[in-house]
Amino acid sequence: MKPAAFEYAAPSSLQEATKILADYNGEAKILAGGQSLVPMLNFRLLKPQILVDINRIPNLDYIAEHNGGVRIGALTRHYALETSPVIAARFPVISEAMRHVAHLAIRNRGTLGGSLSHADPAAELALMAILLDARLTAASASGTRIIEAKDFFVGALSNALEESEILREVEFPGFPLFTGWGFEEFAQRLGDFAVAAAAATLTMSGARCTQCRIAVIGGETVVRAVNAEALLTSSSLDDKTITAAAKAAAQATPMNSDLRASSDLRAHLVEALTRRALEAAKHRALEKQQ
Ligand SMILES: Cc1cc2nc3c(=O)[nH]c(=O)nc-3n(C[C@H](O)[C@H](O)[C@H](O)COP(=O)(O)OP(=O)(O)OC[C@H]3O[C@@H](n4cnc5c(N)ncnc54)[C@H](O)[C@@H]3O)c2cc1C
Repeated sequence: MKPAAFEYAAPSSLQEATKILADYNGEAKILAGGQSLVPMLNFRLLKPQILVDINRIPNLDYIAEHNGGVRIGALTRHYALETSPVIAARFPVISEAMRHVAHLAIRNRGTLGGSLSHADPAAELALMAILLDARLTAASASGTRIIEAKDFFVGALSNALEESEILREVEFPGFPLFTGWGFEEFAQRLGDFAVAAAAATLTMSGARCTQCRIAVIGGETVVRAVNAEALLTSSSLDDKTITAAAKAAAQATPMNSDLRASSDLRAHLVEALTRRALEAAKHRALEKQQ
């Protein structure tokens, strides 16, 4: 299929890009890696008046350490995240998650900003943003604002950005010491979108869990499993509590039902994947204390 006709602009600054977005008043679409946008144009699911190609804007492609965490430019490619030594040292859970995103050719072009803005409910980067309490910086002609990840994903393929805003940067705040992580995904084939996934971080003090984060893929958007987190916080992470938390994670959100899996199967997968992610996170957290 071919897209409907559109104008094309390749601004060389963020100011220029945000001005075009404001001028076209909801009729413009940002082009980053094009891996999700171009198929949608070809199927004519989107018919923007103009494409605003942000690939020539400088200083949108970087991974920088900041206060124990990282700040990442929106145009940073998936492959750069996957192979970054800074990400591997600070957020190994992201390095692991990136290996499950599509195929190498797609990871070479796809961007952090594009993935988060596309807001696919099965996207690994959305899972990371929710798990790690990311802070997203949106820029428009009238300035910038920070959006917490928990407020960013408002539904399947729907985000909290205004039509006139560009996602400019994503900050992942640093982990506390003695934090372990786990990431588990089920997809029909390597590189396919996840049918279900779970990721967890556990912070330990001695044998006790002081902080727990669990995020799951399976429903209309990625969610934190707050009831499961509450069961584990202050516990000694014994098998019985981990089993109960995994069950609670499967109930964190109504699960999707589609051609790939029923809601019951997704709930079953989320429970099993959460248990595995928690066991891996516990193991890594205990290892850090030795
Ligand atoms: C075959 C295939 C398999 C895939 N499998 C997976 C997978 O397993 N997991 C996964 O997570 N993804 C998967 N993807 C999607 C891939 O990761 C995309 O790269 C990503 O979703 C979109 O990133 P992009 O940079 O290509 O964005 P684009 O396609 O350029 O844009 C996507 C949307 O975001 C908007 N946008 C882009 N950048 C910004 C910005 N900075 N600010 C505001 N809006 C912006 C665009 O206007 C558009 O609406 C797959 C894609 C394909 C084609």
